[in-house]
Amino acid sequence: MKRSLSAIKPTGKLTLGNYIGALKNFPKFQDEYENFIFVADLHALTLPIEPQTLYENTRDLVALYLACGLDPNKTTIFLQSDVSEHSELNAIIQNYLYMGELSRMTQFKDKSKKLNQNAIGLGLFAYPVLMAADIILYNADVVPVGEDQKQHVELCRDLVHRFNTRYNKEVFKMPTPIIPKTGARIMSLTDPSVKMSKSGEKGDIYLLEDLKSVEKKIMRATTDLGSDIKYDKENKPGISNLLTIYASLKDISIEEAENIFSNCHRYGDFKKEVAKVVTDELSKIQTKYKEIIDANIIDKVLKDGAKKAKECANKVLKDAQRTIGLYGK
Ligand code: ATP
Ligand code: MG
Repeated sequence: MKRSLSAIKPTGKLTLGNYIGALKNFPKFQDEYENFIFVADLHALTLPIEPQTLYENTRDLVALYLACGLDPNKTTIFLQSDVSEHSELNAIIQNYLYMGELSRMTQFKDKSKKLNQNAIGLGLFAYPVLMAADIILYNADVVPVGEDQKQHVELCRDLVHRFNTRYNKEVFKMPTPIIPKTGARIMSLTDPSVKMSKSGEKGDIYLLEDLKSVEKKIMRATTDLGSDIKYDKENKPGISNLLTIYASLKDISIEEAENIFSNCHRYGDFKKEVAKVVTDELSKIQTKYKEIIDANIIDKVLKDGAKKAKECANKVLKDAQRTIGLYGK
């Protein structure tokens, strides 16, 4: 059976962008693939975060994984920090990735420019190294991610090729990123030129947000000149973003969504429909989230998940260690 692996980092409250670009798609893999989904808690340390916030974000993220349809009997759900092999393999493969290529990563450039230039953590720079370890430890065939993470998966592919060629052996499996056709990059509602992010400021919609507030944000979303509901990323970025959100949640194509609104010439009417689709979806997720928190099952899910993940990761780590001349006992 082929393997699928993905993760989200607990840096903040999950947004509609995380849901549409990543989380919503995760359960689709659990029947056809051996599915590994983890919380990238070590990656959440790459920017300053309060301990209590990290702790709570992690719990909410696991509860949301379950609320959005991941079944612990089909998917291995675990915390990155519970499987020490991630850090051990990271220490090895950091020698096979180059500073030049890491400094060209868009995420590093975007995130580091907002920081005091004398206080950019090494972890932020080396983020794609740990992410490569995350992927190859599970022999992942596919990695479902939003568009912004594609570059990191491609760097991981370069590493796999470099490492396997160097030792003339298929130590690591070549992973393929899977990017959703619609919704791979949901933009902020107040500034459709910026990606919606957990760590972004306003305009974002959070999965656990009060539904009235969600509705208000959609009704106030920045739109463009004109009155047609047409997808045109350049001239109508706001409307295009709302159409993408609508189409993704309805599981239809952008063209189909445009057809539905071909006779609608008032942005307000269109936004009402978008708000309805979003609040219906969030309402379902929020109900399940509450049930999961009440059922108190998170610790057990994580304990079982870590055990299964470790078994798999340890084999790959040992093989890599022995291949390069370490003892790997
Ligand atoms: P941060 O601001 O901390 O980087 P984030 O919202 O970008 O948070 P990540 O944890 O970096 O979230 O990414 C988790 C997953 O969500 C990844 O697969 C990423 O590609 C996807 N994702 C993040 N933002 C969006 C978005 N706006 N649209 C679609 N997918 C997204
Ligand atoms: Mg991100």
